[in-house]
Order: sequence, then C-alpha cells, then structure tokens
Amino acid sequence: MTRLGIVGGAGRMGQALAHELAKEADFEVVSLVDVNEPASLATARWYSSIEELSGPDVDVIIDFSVPEVTRSVLQWCLANNVALVCGTTGISADEIASWEKEIVSSNGHVLFSPNFSLGAVLAQRFAAQAAPYFERVEIIELHHDRKIDAPSGTSIAAANMIGDARRKAGLSAQIDPTQHETLDHARGALGAEGVRIHSVRLPGLVAHQEILLAGPGEGLTIRHDSYDRVSFVAGVALAVRAVTSRAGLTVGLNELI
Ligand code: NAD
Repeated sequence: MTRLGIVGGAGRMGQALAHELAKEADFEVVSLVDVNEPASLATARWYSSIEELSGPDVDVIIDFSVPEVTRSVLQWCLANNVALVCGTTGISADEIASWEKEIVSSNGHVLFSPNFSLGAVLAQRFAAQAAPYFERVEIIELHHDRKIDAPSGTSIAAANMIGDARRKAGLSAQIDPTQHETLDHARGALGAEGVRIHSVRLPGLVAHQEILLAGPGEGLTIRHDSYDRVSFVAGVALAVRAVTSRAGLTVGLNELI
C-alpha cells in the first residue's frame, strides 16, 4: 500500500485526485496539505503546512498547489526521504533544471510533469513526429477562466518538443512575417524556435490544446481536450507507481508511456 499526501489538497485538482486515487487498491490518501480546509477529507487528515507532516507517515507527496510553495515541498521531501510527484505549473524550465543537482545529491526521487493527461502527452509526441515535415507550426491553448499562469506549461513543453524536432531535422527557426502588431501581443507568445503560442481563457473550459501544422497546400491539426480533471488521474497514478524506482529528476511522462 502506497500512502499519499496531497499538497494543494483543498484545491480543484487536489480534491479530484484525493477522490479518484482513493479508489485504487494500492493507494491510501492519508494527508491533505492546504492553507484552506478541504471540503472533503474522506480518510485523510488535514495539515495547513507541509512542515506539520511527519516523514515516516507518507510514501509519496503529490503537489498540485502554487509555484511559491513547490520549492519548500521539494526541500521537505528531500529532507524526509519521501518521493515527490509534482504537477504545479508556472515554474520555469530553468528552475526545474536547477533542482536536479540538489535532488541527485540527496538521493531524491522526483517526477515533474506540466501535464499528466496521457492524451496530451501523446498529442505532443505526435506533433514532434510531424513537425519536421511542415513549414510552420503554431499552438492555441485554451483553459478555464481561473488559471493564473499563461501560456500553459503544456504549451511551452509542446513548443520545446516541436522546436527540438525541427532543429534535429535541420530546419531553421520560423520567421514571423508580421511587421507591425496593430494591437500589442496580437501574434501571441514566442515559444521555442519561433513557435507562437496563443492563450484563450473562458469559463466552461478545462484544458484544451490545438497544434496547427501547415505546409504547401495542406494543414494538420492535432487537438487534445481534457473535459474533466479526472483526465489527469491516470497519469498521476502512473507517476506515483514509477517515481520510487526512478532515481533523480524525471521531467514529463514521455519515458513512462
Ligand atoms: P486551485 O487554485 O484550485 O488549487 C490550489 C490549491 O493550493 C488551493 O487549494 C490553495 O489553497 C492551495 N495552496 C495555496 N498556498 C498553499 C500553501 N502555502 N500550502 C498548501 N497549499 C496551498 O488550483 P488547481 O486548478 O487545483 O491547480 C493547481 C495547480 O495544478 C496549478 O498550478 C495548475 O496549473 C496545476 N495543474 C497541473 C496539471 C498537470 O497535469 N500538471 C493539471 C491541472 C492543474
């Protein structure tokens, strides 16, 4: 039985994960850590800070909270020899890379993924496979209206994977034909290798992404939709089951599927 603690346990993701992971026969959700009291505790106990937790009481910490908290969660996990699965977004790639030395020197086990939806991970993989065969690529990411970071971590990761694939194929960075933006930011954010990312925030959405590839006379759109937060549960379960046997830092689910 793997005992789980969830940081951000009162949040939308924390509550969905607590509810869904408790259904798995090999998981027990024992702790919910959040500054706010969770609406539903089920079999877990509520802690208002990770420092109140006792290391021997949990096997894996799952963090879906806010970026300002993730650093202290990482340090607590390394100090207490507890594995960490982190899905909090809004943390820069440089900061995540800077964790690696500390994780390795502490013999830690950490898996960070900006997206735990298996469909989203596969969509990125397919886009990277297609990218060398098309002249241009742009990304539209669409999320609910309470998301506090933009563009999404998933779209940045997708642009990086597409950029890598284009570079490896010997393609040069995309040049934007736009010479004048009549309104600021009309062409969206500039991702890796000139891949433009456009962010939409609307009520009713969960997490959606379109990767648009185009070449002479044809286009290919790879679209993924998360209709419900339950779409992230299978990936989190996969990560929890894998993290303790993967020493150091793992970024993304690519190596797991
Ligand atoms: P949310 O705002 O509903 O939940 C965040 C929770 O963190 C809140 O309950 C808040 O009280 C809590 N929190 C704030 N400060 C804290 C602290 N000091 N200690 C403990 N808890 C604290 O947000 P959400 O929709 O549940 O998303 C949470 C994070 O997960 C976001 O970064 C979001 O982008 C990310 N997310 C990632 C994936 C993925 O697949 N990687 C999927 C969905 C959401």
